[in-house]
Amino acid sequence: MQNLFSRDGTKFNGTPEFNDAGKPVRWVNVACDRCHVIGGQRLWVMGMENGRPYSKTGFSCWTCGNTGIRKTVKERLYSEAELARLNKSASTRAARKAEAYRIAAEQAEAARAANDSEFRAANAEFIAKLDGLDGEFWDGFRESFLARAKAPTERQVMLVDAEVAKRAANASSGFVGAVGDKATLTLVIERIVGYQTAFGAQYIHICRTSEGNVVTYKGTANIGATDETVTLMATIKEHTVYNGVKQTVIQRPKVLEQA
Ligand SMILES: [Zn+2]
Repeated sequence: MQNLFSRDGTKFNGTPEFNDAGKPVRWVNVACDRCHVIGGQRLWVMGMENGRPYSKTGFSCWTCGNTGIRKTVKERLYSEAELARLNKSASTRAARKAEAYRIAAEQAEAARAANDSEFRAANAEFIAKLDGLDGEFWDGFRESFLARAKAPTERQVMLVDAEVAKRAANASSGFVGAVGDKATLTLVIERIVGYQTAFGAQYIHICRTSEGNVVTYKGTANIGATDETVTLMATIKEHTVYNGVKQTVIQRPKVLEQA
């Protein structure tokens, strides 16, 4: 009698039976799933509690008659040669599946890369602008824009163009006049930042000359509202560089003309 094995390769030591086709089989017990040994007794399971079966009835199991075996089934036994053949075709199948999976993954990656380069080509101008904008906010903006791979919205285009224009203007900002001079300036008020001091509300007016030079005024005088153009006479207090932008600080402004 040649050696026999179950499908998992375990050697069979008993006496085999034979199925209708004349192949060797063994009987295997299938555990009962309706009862469990609880407190030393095999009992019908009512439910699970904290991952353990419980029974409050003490009923015997009618499925298996408290044997713990629901049924017995025939399981094929294989000779060494049969088992080797089965394992070989199983590994061939697995290899084929892995190869199909690898090819699918490769194609998916190629498609993704193609989509990505198509997206980058279609939006090259916008992306180039984003590449030129440093800082945490713009790094995040760029990253999520590239990840989403959707054409920019009108609002995004406006936002980026405005930032690019602002940075270009700031980069070309130069000093106005000489410190101590009195000067007449025509300014567009770009932004007013208010804050409280011990002496009441103060405002920083951030303005720009028609040449693009930044002029700031900090104080209590009302020189106009945001987006207004004002012509005023003021003293050049100092020349400073703030966040890399050259700016001229003025004091004692006297408004000559407002629009
Ligand atoms: Zn049972």
